[in-house]
Order: sequence, then C-alpha cells, then structure tokens
Amino acid sequence: ATPTALLVGTGRGAQLGILIKGPEVLESTRRVDTVVLDKTGTVTTGRMTLLAVHPADGVDEAEVLRLAGALEHASEHPVARAVAEGAAARLGALPVPEDFANVPGLGVRGIVDGHAVLVGRERLLADWAMELPEDLARARAGAEASGRTAVAVAWDGDVRAVLEVADAVKETSAEAITRLRALGLTPILLTGDNRAVAESVAREVGIAAEDVIAEVLPQDKVDVVERLQGEGRSVAMVGDGVNDAAALARADLGLAMGTGTDAAIEASDLTLVRGDLRAAADAIRLARRTLGTIR
Ligand code: ADP
Ligand code: MG
Repeated sequence: ATPTALLVGTGRGAQLGILIKGPEVLESTRRVDTVVLDKTGTVTTGRMTLLAVHPADGVDEAEVLRLAGALEHASEHPVARAVAEGAAARLGALPVPEDFANVPGLGVRGIVDGHAVLVGRERLLADWAMELPEDLARARAGAEASGRTAVAVAWDGDVRAVLEVADAVKETSAEAITRLRALGLTPILLTGDNRAVAESVAREVGIAAEDVIAEVLPQDKVDVVERLQGEGRSVAMVGDGVNDAAALARADLGLAMGTGTDAAIEASDLTLVRGDLRAAADAIRLARRTLGTIR
C-alpha cells in the first residue's frame, strides 16, 4: 500500500465534500452490499412545514395551535419545528410550557396554561389510553395517503386535532439511489415515520415498498442494522439524527450528513459535508477505486 494513493483518495474526497475518518475506513467499502437510508433529513430535506390543521368538532383551531405550538417550541425535532413555526406565524407569541418532556420517536408532552397536552404519533396517545375520534382518524388517513405526516394533538384526556406536516424529497436523492444501485448496493429506507408516508417517499426515489422499514423507534434502528448483518449482509448506513447514531456506529460503514447532528457525525466513518446523498455513492466509488490503486 502506498500512503500516496490513500492521500490522493482522501484529497479527492475532500474536493467532493467527503471527509474520511481514517484510511482503515476504505477497506469496509469493498464489501458493503446494502445501504440503509434514514428518511427525514437524509433522503428528505428535514425542513418540515405545517400544511393543515384539522380540529375535532367544536374545537377552536387557534387553541390547537397555541397549545401544540407552545409545547413543540421546546423540542428540536423537525416535526416540532414545523408545528411551532406554523403556530407562531399565525398567532405571534406563544405561552411557555409549565412542564415539558420529549418522548423520543413518539412526540412531546407537557403542561401549557394548566392543560396536560400531548402532541405526537397515535401510538403516543394510545400509551395514554386515548384514541382518535372518527373524524380525526379520517383526517389522519387522508394526510398519510398523500404522503404527509399526521400528528395528533390531545389535551385533558381527549384527542382534539390532527396536524399535517411534510417535508420534500431532496432533488438529488433519486439520482443518488440510482448511483448506489449502479455500485451493486441494495437501498433500504428506514424511518420512525408512518408506513404510508415512508412508502410515498420510497416511490419518489425509486425504492421498492418491500425495502421500506417504517415505524421503527429510535432505539430500535440499531437492531435493524444488526438483523441485516445477521442475514449475511454487509451494511452501510446513512443518517443525520441523534436517533441514527447507534445504528451508524454499528454499521459496517457509517456515513453522516454534514448538515446533521454532531452525534451522527461522531458515530460515523465518513461525513458527507454538503448533505447531498449522491456523495454517499461517490464516496464508496472513490474509496473502492483508491483501494484498486493500492493493490
Ligand atoms: P425519523 O426516523 O424519520 O427521523 P423519528 O424517529 O424522529 O423520525 O420520529 C418518528 C415519528 O414520531 C415522526 O414522524 C413523528 O410522527 C413522531 N414524532 C417524533 N417527535 C415528535 C414531536 N416532537 N412532535 C410530534 N411528533 C413527533
Ligand atoms: Mg433523520
């Protein structure tokens, strides 16, 4: 092995916006045959917007936005930002919650203006023995059928609204998937989000529905990587979130979006500085070519 070849490889990598943790990383690119892609912030932009509010019968829309917006203001999650920004745009200043807790992969709960408020997935509400009334269940199904994430809002024991949020697939994601396939890799989409939403994103970028793994809790993402490895696959994982860090570390090759969290970057072997998924394919191709030069 010539150190010069490695330097050329990593120098070219830096030009392409790819940072490599060390030369030992290159070797694992040779074997990888599966690439697990996080959805939000990796395949999609991760900048979500609040698109619609569906209050239940007799519930005031401004009240929904005030309570949900106040609570989500305390969370950093892309869904939370969309709700807080949407609420602030409509109402201006929001109350400060008297109590707040983040429930990873499910939502948030807390006290706002003396009300016990929950905002999140249906599963979070089920944990608190609440279910969506029929009109809201319909609103949720409609949102998800059109590829949007439905978020339920409950306070004082009743589900009172469904919010629709969505972000966009990055312009470069479909081409990135094509490039990854050209390298002989099978792409798999992994997300905590709802299956209908995940499948709609998958369709847009050219991933088959059977290669979508949805509704996975943050702490279970690492198990998915291990399961695939248990099937004899060599797994690359691309992610951006705190909730991807364990899976990135466990993968045979971890790639972090440079636009993502420090936790994801620290857990990874490679960083895609510009957050462009095409760089994942470029990185693997470049690393393999560099190895070719060395041998
Ligand atoms: P991903 O794997 O796509 O990055 P997460 O595991 O972070 O997603 O979250 C999964 C789902 O949980 C989200 O799509 C959303 O429906 C719900 N969720 C998580 N955090 C929040 C929050 N703060 N407010 C509302 N919903 C949330
Ligand atoms: Mg993400």
